[in-house]
Amino acid sequence: MALDHVECPQTIKTQMLVAGAGSTGIAAALAFARAGFSVTLAGRFPSPLAGRTVALFEASLRFLDALGVLDEVRAKSCPLATIHMIDDTDQLLPVPDLRLSAEEIDLAAFGLNITNDDLAAVLTAHAKKAKAFDIIEADIADYDFEDDGATAILADGRRIEAEFLIASDGRASKARAAAGIDTKEWTYPQVALTLLLSHELPHDNISTEYHTRSGPFTLVPLRGREGAPNRSSLVWLMHMRDARRRLAKPREALEYEIEDYAKSELGAMKIDSDIGQFRMGGMQVSKFTAGRLALVGETCHIFPPIGAQGLNLSLRDVADLEDCLSSVDLGNEKELARALTRYERHRRADIGLRTHGVDLLNRSLILPYLPVDLLRGAGFVAMTAIGPFRRAVMREGVLPHLVLPRLMRKDEQRPQHARDSRLA
Ligand SMILES: Cc1cc2nc3c(=O)[nH]c(=O)nc-3n(C[C@H](O)[C@H](O)[C@H](O)COP(=O)(O)OP(=O)(O)OC[C@H]3O[C@@H](n4cnc5c(N)ncnc54)[C@H](O)[C@@H]3O)c2cc1C
Repeated sequence: MALDHVECPQTIKTQMLVAGAGSTGIAAALAFARAGFSVTLAGRFPSPLAGRTVALFEASLRFLDALGVLDEVRAKSCPLATIHMIDDTDQLLPVPDLRLSAEEIDLAAFGLNITNDDLAAVLTAHAKKAKAFDIIEADIADYDFEDDGATAILADGRRIEAEFLIASDGRASKARAAAGIDTKEWTYPQVALTLLLSHELPHDNISTEYHTRSGPFTLVPLRGREGAPNRSSLVWLMHMRDARRRLAKPREALEYEIEDYAKSELGAMKIDSDIGQFRMGGMQVSKFTAGRLALVGETCHIFPPIGAQGLNLSLRDVADLEDCLSSVDLGNEKELARALTRYERHRRADIGLRTHGVDLLNRSLILPYLPVDLLRGAGFVAMTAIGPFRRAVMREGVLPHLVLPRLMRKDEQRPQHARDSRLA
């Protein structure tokens, strides 16, 4: 065969390859471009997610501000000024309601609640407009790892050669599997139903969590829209048989049941979206880095949506990795190894704490053991009665002290771009 008829698959070279274009991946591409690396983001942008919203706390908002997207996110979201927790487990001893107010820790709000679709749209539009990095809207079929880099192979044969690979390709990560990183996975006998609601009465920027025997029933305030000034999202954890029963109900009957669960505090309810259903499970990884690969987002942690930790933790992965790598010469093996050891240590502590905390709280609700109930009740009592303890817990939830990367610190403490950035 004559050589001039053979088509050579294209090879693209980049410093940082970000695999997976979900919210975590886009944030990673923006952060590393801001730090002055040449970045390629590969993956398809997110498709719509039924009835899903995400509450982003203060540290995440500072990070989004550093990435230049906070104003657009703010314009589509609703502040969370108060969190009201109600123990609805009918346990033996009565547990007081717990009201957490952002004002108490000198914040106007704990964070913002936005639909996943709006967040993805804002990040995608910003990524395309900023032209800060190259985007290849295609899935990666396979990987080769070498000592000095990683190569991603697309389905059409194109290759992306990178000095470093950031895997943000979600829970079934191909990059993680190709690097041989082990996972430990488990399930809970629960499903989360997610939906958007409009209701009769205003939410006053209060998120209300009813802790029930099948898991939390959490209403989170949403920004109103024309014709529906009062809106909230619902994340409702329940046993699988109850999910089946509720999904088979006529809409109106389900709306009545939701109003009843919410003690009619927000008046009559109307379901405003498709209903999403998500099986609850957990996952831990054996390590967060391997050679020239680092894991971020759901590639390295999964747990139930209690306390709105998932994406906040993912953005912390990204900000922490940027912190560890921003001044590293990727050609210097020793320097890189030191930075990755630091990332590994930080992530093990931060992710371990959140995964075990959420697991403990979820199991304490669904397992009706008196000693566990008493312990949970004591936690509520301590939070209500002891101001310094309550404020410390609130601060840890929105501005974790254990690892707070530079891009999540206050404006004036943030560094300028570490390298000669294409965003500068
Ligand atoms: C019901 C529910 C409510 C939640 N509420 C909150 C909340 O209030 N606050 C909060 O912080 N978190 C919340 N979370 C968690 C949060 O939504 C997730 O942590 C977050 O969406 C994960 O984002 P990600 O980008 O890491 O993963 P994903 O969104 O899964 O993105 C992975 C991306 O990788 C792509 N991909 C996969 N394979 C490949 C491949 N081979 N090549 C290229 N690309 C690939 C996919 O197409 C996808 O776009 C909630 C979760 C649930 C289930």
